Amino acid sequence: MSFLVSSIKKRKLGSSSSSSSSSSSSSPDAKKTKGSSPVDAVRSTITNAAPRKWHGTSVLGVDQFTKTHLEDVFALAENMKQLVAVQGGCDLLKGKVLGNVFYENSTRTRASFETAAYRLGGNVLNISTTGTSVKKGETLQDTLRCIECYTDVLVLRHPENGSVVRVDEYLKKPLLNAGDGTREHPTQALLDGFTIMSEHGFIDGLTVTMLGDLKHGRTVHSLSKLLCNFSNVTLRFVSPDALQMPAKILTALQGKVTFSQHADINEVIGETDVLYVTRVQKERFATLEEYDAVQGTFVVDRTLMQKAKDNMIVMHPLPRVGEILEEVDNDPRCVYFSQMANGMYTRMALLALALVKP
Ligand code: ASP
Ligand code: ASP
Repeated sequence: MSFLVSSIKKRKLGSSSSSSSSSSSSSPDAKKTKGSSPVDAVRSTITNAAPRKWHGTSVLGVDQFTKTHLEDVFALAENMKQLVAVQGGCDLLKGKVLGNVFYENSTRTRASFETAAYRLGGNVLNISTTGTSVKKGETLQDTLRCIECYTDVLVLRHPENGSVVRVDEYLKKPLLNAGDGTREHPTQALLDGFTIMSEHGFIDGLTVTMLGDLKHGRTVHSLSKLLCNFSNVTLRFVSPDALQMPAKILTALQGKVTFSQHADINEVIGETDVLYVTRVQKERFATLEEYDAVQGTFVVDRTLMQKAKDNMIVMHPLPRVGEILEEVDNDPRCVYFSQMANGMYTRMALLALALVKP
């Protein structure tokens, strides 16, 4: 399949149109599917993706993907966006149950997986650490093996690095990593890639600047590796010294992408096409003093936005805790809310790829 992004529009600056659409009424975009139904388009993309063997396969980290896998996900996420715009959803996952298991806080990931399953006609079993036998000392693998008996696909977020990969060894059903410690957040990286593609129309050749807590932020670890699948991407890593991108990630990027590290955003803001901001991850600091020393050291405000390109986009996995001021929210370059909406379309795509037989 050649990946066509024809229906992914390049964002028009200054217009009020955004890439997000939660309306269930027919939109101008949706009319483009005339001739074949949105469900036909979804099925056709799933069929085209069959050679990549998505069905029944876990998503554990971005290293498992080639560029073609990413194209499958972006194309299907776009189909899902159309589907939701035209008819709200469908019954592709009728009779299927998602086990949504969260050992760490979440708003967006959990809610978007849950609504993704509902919009495809499936059901959801939500499990969090409170109220389970985890409190009685049950191992992670035993808890997951139990939930696997009642469900068809599992989503797991857990604070320990590598825990999701380890537990997958015990499971027969597909497991989707919703964040394991500071290591990976692959479904976030996929929705981030989809957002960049939707907003810019392409990824090759872009300069992506990651700003903030690059040490603990699992989303930037996953996204920087995912971007290695594209040509001529330049990465600029901007952070306080104490929060630099881990050496392990820099080694993984070596030879695959051009990158440099900076302490001051002003050095690179003018050349940036995508500004990806992250919060300082308070919960991952050993002491409050260490956190206080770095919190609030970078901020995206109107003054910074004035120095940026007209078509730069600002992204953030959210939640934000002061690093992007609300005063810039209405700047059309700030796309973090449509990025958040893209989470549901991308997770609809991932659930369908894992569960629908091509
Ligand atoms: N975006 C984060 C997540 O993956 C944080 C949040 O949900 O509040 O869930
Ligand atoms: N929501 C993202 C995550 O779960 C980012 C964050 O929490 O800061 O990793």
